[in-house]
Amino acid sequence: PTLRWTEPIPATRRRIIMFPMPFQGHINPMLQLANILHTQGFKITIIHTEYNSPNQSNYPHFTFKSFPDRFSEVINQLPVKDPSFYVKYLNSSSVDPFRNCLAGLLAEEPVTCLITDGGMYFTQAVADELKIPRLVLRTSSLGCGVAYGFLPVSSEKGYFDLPKDDYETSVPEYPLLKVKDIIKISTNPQGMIEFVTNMHNQMKASSGIIWNTFKELEESELQIICEDFPVPIFTLGPLLKYFSASSSSLIEQDRTVISWLDTQAPKSVIYVSFGSVVRITESEFQEMAHGLANTGLPFLWVVRPGVVSGSEWLESLPEKFLEIVGDKGCIVKWCPQQEVLAHPATGCFWTHNGWNSTLESICEGVPMVCSPCLADQPIIARYVCDVWKIGVLLENGFERVEIEMAIKRVMIDEEGDGIRKNIHCLKEKVDLSLTEGGSSHESLKNLDYDHLNLYS
Ligand code: UDP
Repeated sequence: PTLRWTEPIPATRRRIIMFPMPFQGHINPMLQLANILHTQGFKITIIHTEYNSPNQSNYPHFTFKSFPDRFSEVINQLPVKDPSFYVKYLNSSSVDPFRNCLAGLLAEEPVTCLITDGGMYFTQAVADELKIPRLVLRTSSLGCGVAYGFLPVSSEKGYFDLPKDDYETSVPEYPLLKVKDIIKISTNPQGMIEFVTNMHNQMKASSGIIWNTFKELEESELQIICEDFPVPIFTLGPLLKYFSASSSSLIEQDRTVISWLDTQAPKSVIYVSFGSVVRITESEFQEMAHGLANTGLPFLWVVRPGVVSGSEWLESLPEKFLEIVGDKGCIVKWCPQQEVLAHPATGCFWTHNGWNSTLESICEGVPMVCSPCLADQPIIARYVCDVWKIGVLLENGFERVEIEMAIKRVMIDEEGDGIRKNIHCLKEKVDLSLTEGGSSHESLKNLDYDHLNLYS
């Protein structure tokens, strides 16, 4: 989509200050939004932590300002599996350095507003103190916003403590989710509930929320959120349609995968990646390898160093695996995912259902096999498989026969026809929502002219 408006863009708009949460899945949409606002004439300053500092070379048109943090040291000592620990640390340790940094910037020149990640809830109090309006960027789905609202009652009713026998039961308050989905969200339910409550309260106290989704995808969830969050809501996603995620990659992307894909038949390749945070066990990794090999189909597998607990990289692959699969398999450490999904050879995406990965798959019309691991992923996976019906969930974790069947279902079997048709329709809906008069396009216009200019 183009970002051309009928109205002329004022040449000298004020500055907007943006602050992402320092993780790949949060940095990508924030920098995409920054680029959109920049094309609308705003000057952009990105405040960031030293940890996971964004790659500035692709953004010579922005100003970057970092503040010191000890996050690199601390993250190694935290229980990695649960994000509630590190978001809590980030939200408490960043207050003073962030305030100093922001106050310094505000003293330099007038600023339109601050846009910060929903997860960095502490920034609302700082914004209030410094008398600058804060807009929130929420980088997950609306469905996740609704489902997270049920976490306190899930805890009160003891769903987090139910035994395995109850895992398949639907949650009465949110029947789309099963007990096992709720349990997967967090190994530290109280910490997660505290985080979500803080995040949602401070979103409600903000001047507006930008949600990286589009109305046609989550219409009823949008209604619920609009009732629950009494501030302007903007659904102007998927942001990745305007600017690719590749330019904000924190890890170097192996581009040789594109020439490998060029040698493969249309829609024949299984693309596998679990994003930047998830970790799996050695035995899960081995089941994955067997499942992939047993399909007999070509695969492109991103094995991020560290993704397998206790391994540097590929040491725990089954014996002779690489010899057996030969040219059929391409394994890399990190790749240009958006381009891989857009490649005609890609036929399915085996994903952890991070929200960016899910949106990227929808935008390219690639059906999914779902292995959600934590946080919002189990919720997103349910929407993918049971609401939008554009993927198959591996209900029993990592088991080679189930893996092979799910992949064949989304790629080849007649049984998967509906899934392939549905994702194709959804891709068309995305394109429509971004064209003149479409919902995301209109939402962006509202944000740009009606909202941001209020503060100028
Ligand atoms: N990504 C990438 N190369 C890879 C795997 C992932 O550039 O090999 C990008 C992907 O395009 C997405 C982001 O990393 O934009 C991952 O975000 P997501 O929300 O899907 O998952 P998270 O990493 O937050 O779990």
